[in-house]
Amino acid sequence: MQAFRAALAFLAIMLGTTPLQAEGRLNVVASFSILADFVRHVGGDRVNVTSLVGANGDVHVYTPAPQDAKTIADAQLVVINGLGLEGWLPRLLQSSGSKAVVVTASKGVDPLKLGSEADPHAWQSVANAEIYVQNIRDALVLADAADADYFRQATERYLAELDALDREVRSRVDQIPAERRKVISTHGAFGYFAKAYGIAFVAPLGVSTETEPSARDVAGIIAQVRKDKIPAVFLENISDDRLVRGIAEEGGAKLGGTLFSDSLTDEKGSAPTYIAMVRHNIKALTSALGP
Ligand code: ZN
Repeated sequence: MQAFRAALAFLAIMLGTTPLQAEGRLNVVASFSILADFVRHVGGDRVNVTSLVGANGDVHVYTPAPQDAKTIADAQLVVINGLGLEGWLPRLLQSSGSKAVVVTASKGVDPLKLGSEADPHAWQSVANAEIYVQNIRDALVLADAADADYFRQATERYLAELDALDREVRSRVDQIPAERRKVISTHGAFGYFAKAYGIAFVAPLGVSTETEPSARDVAGIIAQVRKDKIPAVFLENISDDRLVRGIAEEGGAKLGGTLFSDSLTDEKGSAPTYIAMVRHNIKALTSALGP
């Protein structure tokens, strides 16, 4: 099948036709939008990418739709985050009868632990995103050797953009007075960001959005906002905002706007790509925390 596809792609190039090329594309399914964006940057027009969890969706608590089984059954590659993020995926894979290769994009990152749980949000450090992108490149090269050079070159270009993004985040954090580098977010999605860039995050929800915080947890966070003079509280695009609005009001902190944690927006939103997401987040943080 692989050889057949490669032959088709070759034939398409020789004939200079597009319909055959479209058929020769790899079908790649990503579990959520951030991974889909990485695949798009590496795979370009050689891949069809579908994200199971859509824009502004919550990957922690996703309920697969009937169509998802078919989408996965037609895929050659399924790209997942791993680190326990997609608890709903193994069952979906099994029920779809898919023969797809499953690629764990976070393979090789240094995982953070919260108690016994791994923190899955490794993409929030740009250096980790670069590991994801290289894992995706390696998987695409294996699946479609005919386009290996294309994938490698696209990856080099994208990694250069990510390097620049990492430097941009660091220089913006440098502008925030050290004693103001602390915020409240909704769920514990920014542990890797905090570790990489030196802004402390406190969140009423843990590393998953599955469990509600207790009244005592919330009271503890409000007390901390007051005691530590935490300047700003941030909403997230994937979660209900009533809880953090209440914490901001009770703790006397300002609302810093919305952070994008686990999901991109659609094209019209302010974070349709990973790079736009990180840029949006660092701008929101610096304008709330800056001098
Ligand atoms: Zn999350």
